[in-house]
Amino acid sequence: MHILLVEDDGLLAEGIVTALKRSGFAVTWLNKGKTASAYLAGESPDILLLDLGLSDMDGIELLRLVREKKYPTQVLILTARDSTTAKVTGLDAGADDYLTKPFEIDELLARLRVLERRLGNAPTALIQVGPITLDTTHHLALHKGEPINLSRREYMLLKALVEHVGIIQTKEGLEGKLYSWNDEVASNAIEVHIHNLRKKLPADFIRTMRGIGYMVPRQ
Ligand code: CA
Repeated sequence: MHILLVEDDGLLAEGIVTALKRSGFAVTWLNKGKTASAYLAGESPDILLLDLGLSDMDGIELLRLVREKKYPTQVLILTARDSTTAKVTGLDAGADDYLTKPFEIDELLARLRVLERRLGNAPTALIQVGPITLDTTHHLALHKGEPINLSRREYMLLKALVEHVGIIQTKEGLEGKLYSWNDEVASNAIEVHIHNLRKKLPADFIRTMRGIGYMVPRQ
């Protein structure tokens, strides 16, 4: 799950980035609307966390652009404007949800999980594929009900695969879900994580589609 945070308050942004990373999200932080619109032309974050009061642009403008260009991104607005008008304007412009500052980080995380479930089309916080269950509320993977000990990135990788059962995920697509824009990523990082993940999962749970990517087949 890759999140783009567009926020010009550095202190707040740093707090959000730390909390999101700790919860297993890949986060890219940009502090200008114009940089964000350039970034969105080339990248597709799963969720855009958008501050409305940016120094160089009204966040609503950026939101309109995201919707006009039909970027497949869920948008959660963060703003100090708590009037009903501002809320309605945001939702009318195509925001999926709205959080008024100041907010508790736990509430932000809960709202993100809702958007995440909407993206994955999973009706509950549990994703079940054969003997493997993912509890996305608690970031847990289970094999026949027994917890599997996964690193943060292994968990994110497994989640990216089981959310799209039967669909091939390219290496580049998976990198985008696991790493932020400015992370240094070794060229074999995904292969290494897949290798380690396989040792903890039933044989053949993850298939390699040679030259294309990886897939968890329907069970
Ligand atoms: Ca601001």
